[in-house]
Amino acid sequence: MPIRVTLEAAIHDYLTVGKAAEKDWRKHTLQCYALGLRLFRESCKKTFLDEISGGDLRQFRVLLRTVKTSVGKKIEPRTIYNHFLNVVSFLNTFGRNELVPQSEWPVYETKTIVSYDPEKLQRLLKFADADEGDVIEFFLGVGFRNGEGTHIEWHDIDLSNKEIHIYSKQERFGWQVKDTEQRIVGISARLADRLSARHRRYPGEGLVFGNTKGNPDKHLLRIIKRVVLRAGLNCGQCMGTYQRKRVPCSTHPVCRKWIIHTLRKTWATFQVRSGVDIVTNKDDLGHSSLATTQNYLASEDRRSPRRRQQINAAGPKFVCGHEMPRPQRGMMLLRDWLVNREVEYYSAQDDKPRSSVSAV
Ligand SMILES: [Zn+2]
Repeated sequence: MPIRVTLEAAIHDYLTVGKAAEKDWRKHTLQCYALGLRLFRESCKKTFLDEISGGDLRQFRVLLRTVKTSVGKKIEPRTIYNHFLNVVSFLNTFGRNELVPQSEWPVYETKTIVSYDPEKLQRLLKFADADEGDVIEFFLGVGFRNGEGTHIEWHDIDLSNKEIHIYSKQERFGWQVKDTEQRIVGISARLADRLSARHRRYPGEGLVFGNTKGNPDKHLLRIIKRVVLRAGLNCGQCMGTYQRKRVPCSTHPVCRKWIIHTLRKTWATFQVRSGVDIVTNKDDLGHSSLATTQNYLASEDRRSPRRRQQINAAGPKFVCGHEMPRPQRGMMLLRDWLVNREVEYYSAQDDKPRSSVSAV
C-alpha cells in the first residue's frame, strides 16, 4: 500500500528541500508562498494530501476574501489571486492537478500601466533637496528595482564609461538579483554627473544609498513620498500607514500612487519612446521574457503633444497619402480602393480572395 503524505509534511518539504530549493527562491518569494500555504491550512483542516478536493480550494477562495492585513485592511484582489495560484502550484507539484477549473479562480482587474508624466517629475525634482533628488533621479535614470538600487556600491559604478553593474551580494547582504540575472546598465551623462557630485559629498567605498550603520537604506521610498507631499503631487484620495497609524495621503507622506516600481516603468517607457528597441530594454530591465517587458510599457497619453502629432499625422495619410491612387475617370470610392488593395494582397499571397471580396 502506498504511503500517504500528510499536508503538513508536503508543505514542509515544498518550502525547504523541494520547490524552494530547486528554484532557489529569494526570501520574499519564500515568505509569500509560506503565507499562502499557512492561510490554506487555516481554511483546510484535512490531514492527507490525497483528501484535498476542489471544495477545499473553493473554501480557501472564500477565506481569502476575509483576510486582513496587519493594519486591518482587506487584501487586494491581486494578492488573493497570487495566494490562490501559489497553493494551486503547490498542489500541482504533488500531482493534485485541476481540482477546480480556471474559470473558478479568483479574479482581479488588470491595472492600466501608467508612467509618471514629465511635468510631474519636473515638479517633484524642483521640491527635492540634493539628497532627495539623488534618489529620485537615480531610480528614474536606471530603472532599477528597489532592492537593486539599495545594494549599489560606489565600485559598481563606472563613471568614465557611464554604466552600473548589478549583481547578487549574497555573502555581505544576503541579497540576490531577481532571477539571478546580473547585468550592466548604461546611464546618462546627467545622472553620472549627479552621482559624481554625491560621491564628493559622501566619499568612501560603501553603499551609494546606505544608512548610518553602513547597511542598505530600506526606506528610500519614504524619501520620495516626503517630496511628493511637499510638491503637492499626492493624489489626495488614498490612505496609507504612517507610524503604525492609518492616515490620509493629503496630510502624510503615504500616497500609494508613488512607488519605485512605477519609476522603473517610467524609465522603461521613456527609453522605448526615445527609440531604444524592446530587446535592449528587456535586457536593461533584467527580464527573462519580452512579454514581461511589454507589460511594463505604458501607452502614451492621448493628450501629450507628441501623441497628438502622431494622431494628426496618421489620420490624413490614410485617405489622401501618396499611396492613394489618383481617381481615374471620375471619383473612386474609398471602399473600392480598399477592396482592390485586398484583392491585390490576396493575389500576391497566391491565395484565394475571401468570398466577400471575390463577389464584388
Ligand atoms: Zn494618494
